[in-house]
Amino acid sequence: TVSVVLFTSDLRLHDHPPLRAAVKSADEVVPLFVLDPGIQAAGFDAPNRRAFLADCLADLDAGLAERGGRLVLRSGRTAEEVCKVVAETGASTVHTAAGVSGYAGRREEELRRELDGQGCRLEVHDAVITAVPPGAVVPAGSDHFAVFTPYFRRWAQEHLRTAYGAPRRVTVPDNVGSYRLPPRQDVEGVAPGLAEGGETAARKQFLTWKRRGLAGYADHHDDLPGDDTSKLSPYLHFGALSPVELVHRARDHGGAGAEAFVRQLCWRDFHHQVLAARTAVSRDDYRPHGDAWRTEEDAAEEIEAWKQGRTGYPVVDAAMRQLRHEGWMHNRGRLLAASFLAKTLYVDWRIGARHFLEQLVDGDIANNQLNWQWVAGTGTDTRPNRVLNPVVQGKRFDPDGAYVRRWVPELADLRGSAVHEPWRLEGLDREQYDYPEPIVALSEGLARFKHARGKE
Ligand code: FAD
Repeated sequence: TVSVVLFTSDLRLHDHPPLRAAVKSADEVVPLFVLDPGIQAAGFDAPNRRAFLADCLADLDAGLAERGGRLVLRSGRTAEEVCKVVAETGASTVHTAAGVSGYAGRREEELRRELDGQGCRLEVHDAVITAVPPGAVVPAGSDHFAVFTPYFRRWAQEHLRTAYGAPRRVTVPDNVGSYRLPPRQDVEGVAPGLAEGGETAARKQFLTWKRRGLAGYADHHDDLPGDDTSKLSPYLHFGALSPVELVHRARDHGGAGAEAFVRQLCWRDFHHQVLAARTAVSRDDYRPHGDAWRTEEDAAEEIEAWKQGRTGYPVVDAAMRQLRHEGWMHNRGRLLAASFLAKTLYVDWRIGARHFLEQLVDGDIANNQLNWQWVAGTGTDTRPNRVLNPVVQGKRFDPDGAYVRRWVPELADLRGSAVHEPWRLEGLDREQYDYPEPIVALSEGLARFKHARGKE
């Protein structure tokens, strides 16, 4: 018998329920990945993620080769390509992970319908992309949790399945053709400091960080200059690491750092269960804002300054430049940069979210859109009017200014926290820095936001 395993956002061999089920039940397995032009058409094929994906696929192929197999790569509409592979191999079952987004839902429906027509079974596996499947814990009278804390309480009590090892052997039929894997070097416009993708790099990153950063994570994860967070988000986005395995490993380690880390993994599941229940929130406000945001036309110059990291607010600019350089940004930086765009500049969160999706290697519909909405006050935040002041926040989370000096070299010789307020310098001291004046007075921006809120 032959089974097909359709990989999507789960590019790994460890703790992979669809692959495990296929290897256990069939003599031969076709590990398949389809490069679907639908993803390109939807605008999700950004250079940083394409390069990272290339690493993930190459590493998956190498891992399968070590086990006697290989990855089969096709290009085209997913359901159609899977059906072709089924027809070529006579496969009786296709295994895949349950998706979360509207796109993944439609893909699954199409696949089920078309495979049915071929007399082939589709087996969809839960708890592959998230630790707890969306919909597994719901409050009375609703299909999802809108508030994090009660969700976390229930989530933390859920029984998680065991984390599985990687299969020892994967036997792939000889006669299935595959495209050449696209190498990372072929991708243009990639951030110079982009991390290496793939399960091997993911496991190494986790082990290194577990030794170095996990114990101190509760105390230091908000420090901007420290690099104390795990930097696992791109690996989680592509599924090079299993969230179930990470929760187990963190719990086995124990301590306050591990607890805080598990809580962040729960935030990821939280946003996924909101998106699964309300797929339109990838575009529409979760809670309507009730007033027109400023658009590209209203604020073209300010938006461009924000994208370039030239707003005149050093910590915001540092964050935006980290994004440009690494295709990744510290969570505190994301909060500050997003709050500045949505609340201080009063620009539509969708404009910022789109820019993040173009740049972020971990750019993720659930996490990105819902975190943006959270910051903009249209999402699930229970304090939607909160506005982050970049000077106060800079001094708090980058007290010595090291993060700003790293990313804004124009200000590199300003000592200590003075780096957060270069406009305080006078005369010649001010002129010697080739750094813009603030593009908006904080009070002016906040007044716009508060005025709009007042109208609701
Ligand atoms: P750690 O602090 O080590 O946390 C571990 C893991 O928990 C992360 O890898 C991530 O998977 C998860 N996590 C942590 N914080 C959050 C959160 N607030 N929401 C959801 N999951 C979380 N994360 C993405 O993965 N993709 C995105 O596109 C994305 N866009 C964001 C946009 C904005 C405006 C904001 C404020 C946050 C966004 N986040 C996004 C969440 C968070 O900033 C990143 O997950 C985190 O910075 C990744 O770094 P890390 O892996 O070192 O995180």
